[in-house]
Amino acid sequence: MIRNDLHVHLYGCLTPGDIWELGRDIWRDRRGRLEAFARRYEAAFGVDPNYESYWVDDAGAANLARDFLCTTPSSFEQFESKFALPIALFPVSHARDDLRVLRRVMERHRDQGLVHVEYRFVYPPVTPLTASYSLKEHLDGLCQCMADFESESSGVFDARLALSVSRDPGLGMEQYLAIKSWQEASSPMLKRHLTGIDFSGYEEDSDAAGIREICARLHSENSRSPANALALLIHAGETTQASSVSDGIRRVEMAARMGAHRIGHAVALGADCDEETRALQSRVRRWIADETKSVIECCITSNIILAGVRDVLVHPVRGFVADGLRVCLATDDPGIFETDARLEYAKAIQVLGPVGAFRILDTTPAYQSAVLSGRA
Ligand SMILES: [Zn+2]
Repeated sequence: MIRNDLHVHLYGCLTPGDIWELGRDIWRDRRGRLEAFARRYEAAFGVDPNYESYWVDDAGAANLARDFLCTTPSSFEQFESKFALPIALFPVSHARDDLRVLRRVMERHRDQGLVHVEYRFVYPPVTPLTASYSLKEHLDGLCQCMADFESESSGVFDARLALSVSRDPGLGMEQYLAIKSWQEASSPMLKRHLTGIDFSGYEEDSDAAGIREICARLHSENSRSPANALALLIHAGETTQASSVSDGIRRVEMAARMGAHRIGHAVALGADCDEETRALQSRVRRWIADETKSVIECCITSNIILAGVRDVLVHPVRGFVADGLRVCLATDDPGIFETDARLEYAKAIQVLGPVGAFRILDTTPAYQSAVLSGRA
């Protein structure tokens, strides 16, 4: 099974059962946010989710699971409307619901036999609820929780954090600089857990070149101060619902050109397309394999549900490996996609055979953020 999961989103690791249990005593205090979730869900599916029923009806837990799980091909908008449920219930705030989420998710991963997980989590959004909530409070809490959990786990489990920053160039730079300032002011015990920054969310309306300045700055600061080096993680070429496959390929190429240590999904490099686009795919694949060091994170179940991959057996990972691309396997949002590290590995065996799948596991530790960024 996958023991190093390098691409998961913290709240996407919650199962419907987790959400039901963690939400049971607090949902009444979150009605305003749950209303916003319900409207977003209704806009995506045309049905009011009736969230109150989750905790008051006998069938509530089953209703929650029905509304939250995303197990068939869906639009990104539909997926995000489901993801909005845990975001509504467990806001980033002084109440630190996020730490209850983190602990529960780490316990599950450790119990499943994972040894190293890199959790992507949001940069504190500015909302009335978080007006006085600082990046320092956010990162101190998350990193301390990871440090405590690691020491309780007696060295069998490493938890790492990648903060997801904005794709908006101005805001993204502001957030990046604040993260660097936090590193400067923090103890080695805390800051060792933060090993990357991530660009995620809807990618099709943003110009990848917009984050060029942030990426250049990150690389130069990584060389100048390797003890605080951060990996550059960019979701690219995942969805091409509103754009073309060739646009997706260009976003992947741009991410590699900006020195992404790992690229999330890059499905566009192996998506169905016409002959001319296939030639572009092949050229970019060869270039990434031969001329860059970027690693592609392949999340098979997620790609079938969100990225238009028709079936496990036609997942592009097979072609990626054949072309010599560096790849790792990851679960992305295992709680919402009803998958886990074992099931994802079974799918990889279906596509690559046992030897091919094992080879990927064998090389994955070398693709951990701290290794790729050259952290001293
Ligand atoms: Zn992702």
